[in-house]
Amino acid sequence: MRRGRFAPTPSGLLHIGNAFAAVASWLQMRQANGQFALRVEDIDTARSRADLAQKQLDDLRWLGIDWDEGPDVGGRHAPYVQSERMTLYEAALERLEQADMLYPCYCSRSELARIASAPHGLASEGGAYPGLCRHLSEEERQAKGAHKTPALRFKMAGQPVTFRDGWAGEVTFAGEAVSDFVVKRADGMFSYQLAVTVDDAAMGITDVLRGADLLDSTPRQLALYEALGLTAPSFAHVPLILGANGERLSKRDRSITLASLRDAGVAPERLIGVMGFAAGWIDRPEPVSVRELIPSFRAVRQREGEPQGRLALSDSLWRMLT
Ligand code: GLU
Repeated sequence: MRRGRFAPTPSGLLHIGNAFAAVASWLQMRQANGQFALRVEDIDTARSRADLAQKQLDDLRWLGIDWDEGPDVGGRHAPYVQSERMTLYEAALERLEQADMLYPCYCSRSELARIASAPHGLASEGGAYPGLCRHLSEEERQAKGAHKTPALRFKMAGQPVTFRDGWAGEVTFAGEAVSDFVVKRADGMFSYQLAVTVDDAAMGITDVLRGADLLDSTPRQLALYEALGLTAPSFAHVPLILGANGERLSKRDRSITLASLRDAGVAPERLIGVMGFAAGWIDRPEPVSVRELIPSFRAVRQREGEPQGRLALSDSLWRMLT
Protein backbone atom coordinates (compact mmCIF):
# COMPACT_ATOMS: atom_id res chain seq x y z
CA MET A 1 0.00 0.00 0.00
CA ARG A 2 1.45 3.36 -0.97
CA ARG A 3 1.42 6.05 1.69
CA GLY A 4 1.92 9.78 1.26
CA ARG A 5 1.71 12.76 3.55
CA PHE A 6 1.58 16.52 3.85
CA ALA A 7 3.65 17.87 6.73
CA PRO A 8 3.29 21.61 7.19
CA THR A 9 5.16 23.66 9.78
CA PRO A 10 2.60 25.84 11.58
CA SER A 11 4.65 29.01 11.35
CA GLY A 12 2.23 30.86 9.10
CA LEU A 13 -0.87 30.51 6.98
CA LEU A 14 -0.77 28.23 3.94
CA HIS A 15 -0.25 30.00 0.62
CA ILE A 16 -1.02 28.67 -2.82
CA GLY A 17 2.48 27.22 -3.20
CA ASN A 18 1.92 25.08 -0.09
CA ALA A 19 -1.54 24.21 -1.43
CA PHE A 20 -0.04 23.01 -4.71
CA ALA A 21 2.28 20.59 -2.88
CA ALA A 22 -0.58 19.40 -0.65
CA VAL A 23 -2.94 18.89 -3.59
CA ALA A 24 -0.30 17.08 -5.67
CA SER A 25 0.60 14.74 -2.81
CA TRP A 26 -3.07 14.04 -2.08
CA LEU A 27 -3.85 13.41 -5.77
CA GLN A 28 -0.87 11.07 -6.09
CA MET A 29 -2.18 8.91 -3.23
CA ARG A 30 -5.84 9.01 -4.18
CA GLN A 31 -4.96 8.01 -7.75
CA ALA A 32 -2.83 5.12 -6.42
CA ASN A 33 -5.57 4.07 -3.96
CA GLY A 34 -3.01 4.74 -1.27
CA GLN A 35 -3.31 6.37 2.14
CA PHE A 36 -2.70 9.99 2.97
CA ALA A 37 -1.52 11.30 6.34
CA LEU A 38 -1.28 14.76 7.77
CA ARG A 39 1.54 15.59 10.18
CA VAL A 40 2.12 18.85 12.04
CA GLU A 41 5.85 19.65 12.07
CA ASP A 42 6.06 21.88 15.11
CA ILE A 43 9.40 20.88 16.66
CA ASP A 44 10.70 24.39 16.07
CA THR A 45 8.70 25.73 18.99
CA ALA A 46 9.85 29.32 18.53
CA ARG A 47 8.31 29.41 15.04
CA SER A 48 5.25 27.21 15.57
CA ARG A 49 1.80 28.11 16.88
CA ALA A 50 -1.09 25.79 17.70
CA ASP A 51 -3.68 28.24 16.37
CA LEU A 52 -1.89 28.31 13.01
CA ALA A 53 -1.84 24.50 12.87
CA GLN A 54 -5.62 24.56 13.31
CA LYS A 55 -5.98 27.18 10.56
CA GLN A 56 -3.82 25.12 8.21
CA LEU A 57 -6.09 22.09 8.69
CA ASP A 58 -9.14 24.28 8.05
CA ASP A 59 -7.53 25.62 4.85
CA LEU A 60 -6.78 22.12 3.59
CA ARG A 61 -10.35 21.03 4.25
CA TRP A 62 -11.59 24.10 2.39
CA LEU A 63 -9.54 22.90 -0.60
CA GLY A 64 -11.36 19.58 -0.44
CA ILE A 65 -8.43 17.55 0.83
CA ASP A 66 -9.07 14.81 3.40
CA TRP A 67 -6.68 12.59 5.32
CA ASP A 68 -6.88 9.04 6.56
CA GLU A 69 -4.62 9.79 9.53
CA GLY A 70 -3.78 13.03 11.27
CA PRO A 71 -3.78 15.02 14.49
CA ASP A 72 -7.56 15.42 14.54
CA VAL A 73 -8.55 11.94 13.28
CA GLY A 74 -5.78 9.85 14.87
CA GLY A 75 -4.46 6.67 13.28
CA ARG A 76 -2.13 3.78 14.01
CA HIS A 77 0.99 5.97 13.90
CA ALA A 78 -0.29 8.59 16.34
CA PRO A 79 0.67 11.13 17.54
CA TYR A 80 0.76 13.14 14.31
CA VAL A 81 2.29 16.19 15.97
CA GLN A 82 6.09 16.29 16.10
CA SER A 83 6.35 17.98 19.49
CA GLU A 84 4.74 14.82 20.94
CA ARG A 85 7.23 12.44 19.28
CA MET A 86 10.47 13.44 20.99
CA THR A 87 11.26 9.96 22.35
CA LEU A 88 11.49 8.63 18.77
CA TYR A 89 13.99 11.34 17.81
CA GLU A 90 15.97 10.68 20.98
CA ALA A 91 16.17 6.95 20.14
CA ALA A 92 17.35 7.70 16.57
CA LEU A 93 19.98 10.07 17.91
CA GLU A 94 21.26 7.33 20.20
CA ARG A 95 21.54 4.91 17.29
CA LEU A 96 23.50 7.45 15.28
CA GLU A 97 25.77 8.11 18.23
CA GLN A 98 26.42 4.40 18.68
CA ALA A 99 27.26 4.10 14.98
CA ASP A 100 29.77 6.96 15.40
CA MET A 101 27.95 9.12 12.85
CA LEU A 102 27.80 12.27 15.00
CA TYR A 103 30.23 14.77 16.50
CA PRO A 104 29.81 17.76 18.79
CA CYS A 105 30.07 21.14 17.06
CA TYR A 106 30.91 24.25 19.07
CA CYS A 107 30.75 26.74 16.20
CA SER A 108 28.41 29.63 16.80
CA ARG A 109 26.34 31.29 14.11
CA SER A 110 28.54 34.38 14.29
CA GLU A 111 31.73 32.32 13.88
CA LEU A 112 30.28 30.59 10.84
CA ALA A 113 29.17 33.93 9.40
CA ARG A 114 32.65 35.37 9.92
CA ILE A 115 34.25 32.46 8.02
CA ALA A 116 31.63 32.82 5.30
CA SER A 117 32.50 36.44 4.69
CA ALA A 118 36.28 35.89 4.67
CA PRO A 119 37.93 35.58 1.24
CA HIS A 120 37.65 31.98 0.04
CA GLY A 121 35.46 31.33 3.09
CA LEU A 122 32.20 29.46 3.34
CA ALA A 123 30.45 31.55 0.72
CA SER A 124 32.68 30.22 -2.05
CA GLU A 125 31.68 26.71 -0.97
CA GLY A 126 27.99 27.46 -1.28
CA GLY A 127 27.52 28.04 2.45
CA ALA A 128 28.58 24.52 3.33
CA TYR A 129 29.84 23.73 6.82
CA PRO A 130 33.62 23.39 6.48
CA GLY A 131 33.90 20.61 9.06
CA LEU A 132 35.77 22.74 11.61
CA CYS A 133 34.75 20.64 14.61
CA ARG A 134 34.81 17.23 12.92
CA HIS A 135 38.44 16.49 13.68
CA LEU A 136 38.89 18.05 17.11
CA SER A 137 40.91 16.01 19.58
CA GLU A 138 39.34 14.86 22.84
CA GLU A 139 41.28 17.58 24.71
CA GLU A 140 40.05 20.28 22.34
CA ARG A 141 36.48 19.03 22.79
CA GLN A 142 36.80 19.16 26.54
CA ALA A 143 38.28 22.65 26.48
CA LYS A 144 35.52 23.98 24.22
CA GLY A 145 32.84 22.04 26.08
CA ALA A 146 33.78 23.71 29.37
CA HIS A 147 32.17 26.94 28.14
CA LYS A 148 29.55 25.79 25.75
CA THR A 149 26.89 23.16 25.01
CA PRO A 150 27.59 21.79 21.53
CA ALA A 151 25.22 21.07 18.67
CA LEU A 152 25.47 17.57 17.17
CA ARG A 153 26.40 17.22 13.53
CA PHE A 154 25.99 14.25 11.21
CA LYS A 155 29.09 13.10 9.30
CA MET A 156 28.43 13.14 5.58
CA ALA A 157 30.63 10.98 3.37
CA GLY A 158 31.66 13.88 1.14
CA GLN A 159 30.65 11.86 -1.94
CA PRO A 160 28.28 12.97 -4.71
CA VAL A 161 24.67 11.90 -4.12
CA THR A 162 22.41 10.98 -7.05
CA PHE A 163 18.74 10.06 -6.84
CA ARG A 164 15.76 9.91 -9.15
CA ASP A 165 13.22 12.56 -8.32
CA GLY A 166 9.66 11.76 -9.37
CA TRP A 167 9.21 15.28 -10.66
CA ALA A 168 12.65 16.78 -11.33
CA GLY A 169 14.17 13.62 -12.87
CA GLU A 170 17.72 12.53 -12.03
CA VAL A 171 19.33 14.90 -9.55
CA THR A 172 22.98 14.93 -8.48
CA PHE A 173 24.50 16.89 -5.61
CA ALA A 174 28.28 17.27 -5.48
CA GLY A 175 29.91 15.98 -2.28
CA GLU A 176 30.95 19.52 -1.23
CA ALA A 177 27.35 20.71 -1.63
CA VAL A 178 26.12 18.40 1.11
CA SER A 179 28.23 19.08 4.15
CA ASP A 180 27.89 17.81 7.73
CA PHE A 181 24.55 19.02 9.08
CA VAL A 182 23.03 19.57 12.51
CA VAL A 183 20.74 16.88 13.92
CA LYS A 184 20.39 18.41 17.38
CA ARG A 185 20.89 22.09 18.09
CA ALA A 186 22.85 23.48 21.01
CA ASP A 187 19.55 24.53 22.62
CA GLY A 188 18.44 20.87 22.63
CA MET A 189 16.03 21.09 19.71
CA PHE A 190 16.12 18.30 17.11
CA SER A 191 16.58 19.43 13.54
CA TYR A 192 13.99 19.19 10.80
CA GLN A 193 16.24 16.71 8.91
CA LEU A 194 16.29 14.22 11.76
CA ALA A 195 12.63 14.55 12.74
CA VAL A 196 11.25 14.31 9.20
CA THR A 197 13.32 11.22 8.43
CA VAL A 198 12.38 9.44 11.66
CA ASP A 199 8.69 10.27 11.17
CA ASP A 200 8.43 9.37 7.50
CA ALA A 201 10.08 6.03 8.25
CA ALA A 202 8.02 5.35 11.40
CA MET A 203 4.80 6.24 9.61
CA GLY A 204 5.60 3.93 6.68
CA ILE A 205 5.58 6.75 4.13
CA THR A 206 6.46 5.38 0.69
CA ASP A 207 6.11 8.60 -1.33
CA VAL A 208 7.41 11.96 -0.18
CA LEU A 209 6.06 14.67 -2.45
CA ARG A 210 6.85 18.24 -1.38
CA GLY A 211 8.00 21.65 -2.59
CA ALA A 212 11.23 22.13 -4.56
CA ASP A 213 12.59 24.32 -1.73
CA LEU A 214 13.31 21.03 0.08
CA LEU A 215 15.13 19.34 -2.81
CA ASP A 216 18.54 19.95 -1.24
CA SER A 217 17.38 18.34 2.01
CA THR A 218 16.97 15.02 0.24
CA PRO A 219 20.66 13.97 0.07
CA ARG A 220 20.89 14.61 3.83
CA GLN A 221 17.76 12.63 4.52
CA LEU A 222 18.95 9.77 2.29
CA ALA A 223 22.17 9.64 4.34
CA LEU A 224 20.10 9.47 7.55
CA TYR A 225 17.94 6.63 6.20
CA GLU A 226 21.09 4.70 5.39
CA ALA A 227 22.79 5.38 8.72
CA LEU A 228 19.64 4.33 10.61
CA GLY A 229 19.21 1.20 8.50
CA LEU A 230 15.83 2.40 7.21
CA THR A 231 14.31 2.06 3.74
CA ALA A 232 14.07 5.44 2.04
CA PRO A 233 10.81 6.46 0.36
CA SER A 234 10.70 7.77 -3.18
CA PHE A 235 10.99 11.54 -3.44
CA ALA A 236 9.30 14.04 -5.74
CA HIS A 237 9.67 17.81 -5.54
CA VAL A 238 6.99 19.93 -7.16
CA PRO A 239 7.92 23.35 -8.51
CA LEU A 240 7.30 26.40 -6.36
CA ILE A 241 4.61 28.69 -7.64
CA LEU A 242 5.99 32.13 -8.31
CA GLY A 243 4.13 35.23 -7.23
CA ALA A 244 2.92 37.78 -9.80
CA ASN A 245 6.15 39.69 -9.16
CA GLY A 246 8.15 36.61 -10.19
CA GLU A 247 9.22 35.97 -6.61
CA ARG A 248 8.81 32.98 -4.37
CA LEU A 249 5.73 32.96 -2.16
CA SER A 250 6.23 32.89 1.54
CA LYS A 251 3.85 31.92 4.34
CA ARG A 252 4.19 35.47 5.61
CA ASP A 253 2.99 36.99 2.33
CA ARG A 254 -0.62 37.52 3.36
CA SER A 255 -1.91 38.51 -0.05
CA ILE A 256 -1.91 35.00 -1.48
CA THR A 257 -2.77 32.85 1.48
CA LEU A 258 -5.68 30.46 1.15
CA ALA A 259 -7.39 32.39 3.94
CA SER A 260 -7.17 35.63 1.98
CA LEU A 261 -8.57 33.98 -1.16
CA ARG A 262 -11.43 32.52 0.85
CA ASP A 263 -12.13 35.87 2.50
CA ALA A 264 -12.16 37.50 -0.95
CA GLY A 265 -14.84 35.04 -2.00
CA VAL A 266 -12.69 32.95 -4.36
CA ALA A 267 -14.10 29.41 -4.57
CA PRO A 268 -11.63 26.59 -3.87
CA GLU A 269 -12.60 25.03 -7.22
CA ARG A 270 -11.34 28.12 -8.98
CA LEU A 271 -7.93 27.89 -7.31
CA ILE A 272 -7.75 24.14 -8.01
CA GLY A 273 -8.63 24.80 -11.67
CA VAL A 274 -5.86 27.39 -12.00
CA MET A 275 -3.31 25.11 -10.36
CA GLY A 276 -4.43 22.07 -12.37
CA PHE A 277 -4.14 24.02 -15.60
CA ALA A 278 -0.73 25.47 -14.69
CA ALA A 279 0.47 21.92 -13.90
CA GLY A 280 -0.89 20.66 -17.21
CA TRP A 281 -3.44 18.26 -15.67
CA ILE A 282 -6.38 19.91 -17.41
CA ASP A 283 -6.69 21.77 -20.71
CA ARG A 284 -8.62 24.79 -19.45
CA PRO A 285 -8.37 26.78 -16.21
CA GLU A 286 -12.00 26.12 -15.34
CA PRO A 287 -13.24 25.51 -11.80
CA VAL A 288 -12.85 21.89 -10.77
CA SER A 289 -12.82 19.98 -7.48
CA VAL A 290 -9.73 18.12 -6.28
CA ARG A 291 -11.67 14.88 -6.55
CA GLU A 292 -12.37 15.50 -10.25
CA LEU A 293 -8.62 15.89 -10.83
CA ILE A 294 -7.69 12.46 -9.45
CA PRO A 295 -7.57 10.71 -12.84
CA SER A 296 -5.55 13.50 -14.51
CA PHE A 297 -2.73 13.80 -11.96
CA ARG A 298 0.78 13.17 -13.28
CA ALA A 299 4.26 14.54 -12.69
CA VAL A 300 5.07 17.36 -15.05
CA ARG A 301 8.42 17.85 -16.67
CA GLN A 302 10.17 21.19 -16.48
CA ARG A 303 8.95 23.51 -19.21
CA GLU A 304 11.22 25.24 -21.69
CA GLY A 305 12.50 28.60 -20.45
CA GLU A 306 11.18 28.19 -16.90
CA PRO A 307 13.65 28.38 -14.01
CA GLN A 308 14.38 24.99 -12.42
CA GLY A 309 11.83 24.06 -9.78
CA ARG A 310 9.62 27.08 -10.50
CA LEU A 311 6.13 27.32 -11.93
CA ALA A 312 5.20 30.81 -13.03
CA LEU A 313 1.50 31.64 -13.26
CA SER A 314 0.67 33.86 -16.22
CA ASP A 315 -0.96 37.24 -15.58
CA SER A 316 -4.28 35.99 -16.86
CA LEU A 317 -4.22 33.08 -14.40
CA TRP A 318 -3.35 35.44 -11.55
CA ARG A 319 -6.27 37.63 -12.50
CA MET A 320 -8.59 34.67 -12.04
CA LEU A 321 -7.56 34.57 -8.39
CA THR A 322 -7.55 38.24 -7.58
N1 GLU B 1 7.62 20.87 7.48
C1 GLU B 1 8.25 21.23 6.25
C2 GLU B 1 7.76 22.58 5.77
O1 GLU B 1 6.67 23.00 6.11
C3 GLU B 1 7.98 20.22 5.13
C4 GLU B 1 8.55 18.90 5.42
C5 GLU B 1 8.52 17.93 4.27
O2 GLU B 1 7.55 17.91 3.49
O3 GLU B 1 9.47 17.16 4.19
O4 GLU B 1 8.49 23.25 5.06
